[in-house]
Amino acid sequence: MDTKIVSCEKTNHEFKVLLDKTIFRYKAGGQDCDKGQLRKDDIVFEVVDVEEENGKTIHIVKGKGSLDIGDEVLCVLDWERRYTLMKLHTAEHIFYKSLAKRLPDLELKKLWLTFDDDKREGNGTIVIETSKPLDWKILVEAETEVNKIIYENRSIKTYISNVKDLTKDVRIKESLLKRMNQVRIVEVEKFDKAACSGTHVERTGEIMFFKITSIEKKNAQSYHLNFKVGEDALNFALTVSNQVLWKAQSIGYNPDEVIYVLEKHEKLRETLKGLKTQLLNTIPQDIERNKEIVHNIPIYYYVCRGLEVKELTMLGRRLKKKIEGNFIAILVGTNETASFIIASKGVNLDVSKILKEFLANYDCKGGGKPDFAIYGIKKPNNINELLNNLVNRFRLEISKILA
Ligand SMILES: [Zn+2]
Repeated sequence: MDTKIVSCEKTNHEFKVLLDKTIFRYKAGGQDCDKGQLRKDDIVFEVVDVEEENGKTIHIVKGKGSLDIGDEVLCVLDWERRYTLMKLHTAEHIFYKSLAKRLPDLELKKLWLTFDDDKREGNGTIVIETSKPLDWKILVEAETEVNKIIYENRSIKTYISNVKDLTKDVRIKESLLKRMNQVRIVEVEKFDKAACSGTHVERTGEIMFFKITSIEKKNAQSYHLNFKVGEDALNFALTVSNQVLWKAQSIGYNPDEVIYVLEKHEKLRETLKGLKTQLLNTIPQDIERNKEIVHNIPIYYYVCRGLEVKELTMLGRRLKKKIEGNFIAILVGTNETASFIIASKGVNLDVSKILKEFLANYDCKGGGKPDFAIYGIKKPNNINELLNNLVNRFRLEISKILA
């Protein structure tokens, strides 16, 4: 579309441009702004953002060259971006209505319809509140219904209506009812009517496919529901189903048994957690049996396979409370990494400094205080040998100060 520049303001390598008429839409009602280009003769300027200022459409434009009042420019819309936003917006209407049929006190709090310019991919999110627990069964039902309406290729009509003539089946915000005399209605054939000023497709079939991609529970009543449309939705569904299919096959299950396997996994994880807690309770007694005494100071040492830094740290703190008298305790945990915890009491040595020096060749990370040190390294092959050397090192250090 050809148009003229009405006003133009240059600020740090950007132009703020107002046009005589425009096809670009600013961000509104949750729908992200359009992007594209302004072309002046052969010079191309990128429209990187479109904002609303006092009801006017302001184009934020970047490019090498000059733009001035009166210049004639050609507006070129990034159509893929806009069309994806239109499909997302239409799908959002159908999806919300479909959920509302199943959740009587459903409320739409916010929505975000965005397009990632780098990935060339659209994403939709609705923020909803409902007192009825939202489970996968309801979501799957709604998703199926949305896809059915897409498949039926129903029409979408938009028209202006007087607020006083609105029927009860029109979805509209209370605030809008009070503020406006006329509103724009978007009607999905025999399914939904909603007041909306955004952009939509003309037939539901254009959406092609709808897929919920994730749900985030924000509190007891609030959820974020994320979705995709069109090819993005199809790619997502294919990727996920292929991952499940091939993973199931590689571990020797049928795809329809995956849920069973995951549930089993979940139970095992719970059991493991219980066992770990039990283990953590019995380790302190165990540790007290593993010791060397140097000049009346016990050096406790222990390798705990499968324990993580957090658990080891807890263990170190427990030892400090439990053991009376002076001591040094060296705890080593092995997972994908090896972690070292040293706790000491009443010994005039900086255990953190000694441990750091000892692990200097292992690209260690960590820190601590003179009586408590936490360090991690990549898992070495010779963990027992390393522990022996560390105990020897402390034997030497104690001898030095107490001999
Ligand atoms: Zn809309």
